Amino acid sequence: KYNKEAKERRKLFNELQDLKGNIRVYVRVRPILPSDGSTQGSCIETGIDEIRVRNVEEKKTFKYEFEKVFGVESMQSQVFEDVKPLATSILDGYNVCIFAYGQTGSGKTHTMEGNPKDRGVNYRTLSELFRIKEERKQDFSFDINVAVMEIYNETLFDLLGSSKEKEKKKLEILMSKEISVPGLLLVPVNSPEDVINTLQGGYKSRAVGANNINEHSSRSHCIVSVYVTAINLTTKQKTIGKLHLIDLAGSERLKRTETTGDRMKESMAINKSLSALGDVISALASKKPHIPFRNSKLTSLLQDSLGGNSKTLMFVNVSPTIESCPETLCSLGFAARVKTVEMGKAEKNTVKA
Ligand code: ADP
Ligand code: MG
Repeated sequence: KYNKEAKERRKLFNELQDLKGNIRVYVRVRPILPSDGSTQGSCIETGIDEIRVRNVEEKKTFKYEFEKVFGVESMQSQVFEDVKPLATSILDGYNVCIFAYGQTGSGKTHTMEGNPKDRGVNYRTLSELFRIKEERKQDFSFDINVAVMEIYNETLFDLLGSSKEKEKKKLEILMSKEISVPGLLLVPVNSPEDVINTLQGGYKSRAVGANNINEHSSRSHCIVSVYVTAINLTTKQKTIGKLHLIDLAGSERLKRTETTGDRMKESMAINKSLSALGDVISALASKKPHIPFRNSKLTSLLQDSLGGNSKTLMFVNVSPTIESCPETLCSLGFAARVKTVEMGKAEKNTVKA
């Protein structure tokens, strides 16, 4: 009755995952675009697991190695091949976080959301969840629910639950034994079409109250959270897996022109949360007894999905232009700090029914 082959394959997936460790960093370089201007050349060369950045001003080349480097020609489908095994992990009851980190214009949203003709990681991962759900339907019943949130200026908003036209719904994070977000709207999804509609609704609400949606989205974190409850039909054992898909705010450093006003406030909030994220991961890496989850809204929200009991994938998106070289080196520096993480084996979340 049980699909033995699928079970074997799953076991292999998880073994491979364990071999690679629970934190992985993939770098993705976007192609040069017409909007970059014709004078702009590229300062980047890539191999399958390395990236070389030529700093023209310093006449130096910096080389970094990562698990995976996706060059300018990499397709969405190709990138997803290396994300796919995580979908199996979620249905097996693990918590998974997938981040896109990088300066504005480096390809974070392209990687996570993509576009209707060429969808990104968010949609592809959810589609894969439905595929596996179907594959396992004789043995498990699955419930899949989605929430879409935004963190802007250290305030958490519910993008699906916003009832008013002109205002987003604010949320608080409660931390007792488990973290919870009272009032967060979870929308049940049963098909890839449901997912498209639900996510679209969330992305739309991002624009509420923003003068310029592009600017706003580069200055806020967008979080798509997927909650998967699996019940084993034979043993009645229940497992819960969470997937967080996070399109982070632009990582660019404060510009000299932004030392006052709202812009500075935004930049400081972004710096705070991105450095808090780096601090949390590096504290986990060095197995410090205290992990500073509470230093930002983002790390508070994700605290049960970062660390021992979970799997993390960080895309570091970079732009190849010479002009972007300093920011590219900063992003790769952040990535290198994240990469050295080695954590204990992830465990499944198991809840007795
Ligand atoms: P970010 O979200 O980091 O600000 P975007 O994802 O919006 O950046 O990308 C900036 C621009 O570059 C967009 O026009 C996007 O379509 C394009 N782009 C990014 N990555 C790629 C890619 N891998 N292939 C083709 N175009 C890309
Ligand atoms: Mg974006």
